[in-house]
Amino acid sequence: MSYTVLARKFRSQTYGEVVGQDPITTTLRNAIVSDRIHHGYLFCGTRGVGKTSMARILAKCLNCLSSDKPTPDPCCTCDSCESIARGEDVDVIEIDAASNTGVDNIRDLRSNAIYRPARARFKVYIIDEVHMLSTAAFSALLKTLEEPPDHVKFIFATTEPQKVPATIQSRVQRFDFKSISVPEIATQLESICKKEEVSADAAAIRRIARLANGSMRDALSLLDQVLSLSETISPEVVDEILPVPHDEVLSRLIDRVGEGDAAGALAVVDESLGQGYTLDYWCTLLIDQMRDLMVLRVCGAETELVDAPAGLRAVLLEQSGKFDAGAYVYMISLLEELRRSVKFSGSGRALVDSAVVRLAEASNFSSIETLLECVEGVDSDSRPPAGAVNRPSPKAQEGVAAVPPRKAESPVPGSSESGPGSREASVSSVGHSTGPRPTPPGSGGRVTQSDLKTAHAEPMVRSALDVFDGRIIEVQQGPGAPTAEPPGP
Ligand SMILES: [Zn+2]
Repeated sequence: MSYTVLARKFRSQTYGEVVGQDPITTTLRNAIVSDRIHHGYLFCGTRGVGKTSMARILAKCLNCLSSDKPTPDPCCTCDSCESIARGEDVDVIEIDAASNTGVDNIRDLRSNAIYRPARARFKVYIIDEVHMLSTAAFSALLKTLEEPPDHVKFIFATTEPQKVPATIQSRVQRFDFKSISVPEIATQLESICKKEEVSADAAAIRRIARLANGSMRDALSLLDQVLSLSETISPEVVDEILPVPHDEVLSRLIDRVGEGDAAGALAVVDESLGQGYTLDYWCTLLIDQMRDLMVLRVCGAETELVDAPAGLRAVLLEQSGKFDAGAYVYMISLLEELRRSVKFSGSGRALVDSAVVRLAEASNFSSIETLLECVEGVDSDSRPPAGAVNRPSPKAQEGVAAVPPRKAESPVPGSSESGPGSREASVSSVGHSTGPRPTPPGSGGRVTQSDLKTAHAEPMVRSALDVFDGRIIEVQQGPGAPTAEPPGP
């Protein structure tokens, strides 16, 4: 007997078996029980979340022969249920719009739809990837949707609902399938392993669930892949044949950047790119992850704007505190610039490496607000207004250059209390890009061309100006200070 892949063998057959789409199953069951079945449904969602399974279950509910009317609990054993499950029923017609995009296909459908079903109650058209239909095909479909025969039901499925015309959407009931959570996928994988009599380690199952990115079908394909190598599922086997989830690797990269560890960051880049991503896609993944961190930082832990599985969300939340919002904005714009450059560059890898080094170096800086907070000891409630930010405080004038992001509450390195060898050539205040830039009283004429030249020669000063989009308004130099000392840790 030939081998059936797990995704087909364990396709859900009843509402009770559908994983992770409870609101939709409840609504559809109620519609059948209360005899309020719409003539058209649109199922939206990413691949492998149960759209086709749900469409077939709904078709079985409508046409099950063991009941004399539509039932929320189809028998799954009558001829109709069985042939629907195989996708071969005479009255439930499945059409792949990706290979039947033209208006002629829809005209055929319309001329057939007027005939009554052969043996069941309804003629059900399941049109997969419906967004692929041509404009003319959509227009032809619209006519049928406006006045469908009583015995016809439409179920459309799509991964790209924004491409389905509004005129179609307003004539159907739309259901948005959500990505399936890691715990839900893991529970399903464990139950399948039990049925298949395979011993499986919980940590290994969890890793497969995370790699599936919310898609049950992807999870089952990965499980198939692991089972083809080994009869038991252990972390070692999974590590051997499946990649580390990219968000875990990128998380480590962001950690290294946050620590200012350029060498460590480059090692993680090498490992990550070794997984076979194209450079610009890799940049996109990193930008997406930075965006999630920024949103968590700005909106807080409860935000619904970050769509990450629960386990990853906890990791991201902890990591989001490593930089302030301004630093994320800076890093995202630098990475977007990088993404565009690597696409057309013959030396993309060098660009990626140099951008990562630049990020690691820049992370030695914090925003001017954080800087002022820690030197003045003010809390966020009494923070000076934006226009007053570049007012140099008495302490700031003693010479403060940089604050590592994680150490905002600790003594400021580079202050006058620092021991010998610390950086003394420094910028006391850097104009911020937002708000007006008043010239502090008494500062006019204190910056000479030579001072500016000296300050610009300092790599940390240049990076600070870059990060804050600032300008130098005052230069103070300690006695005998070196002018171009490389940045410290
Ligand atoms: Zn049945």
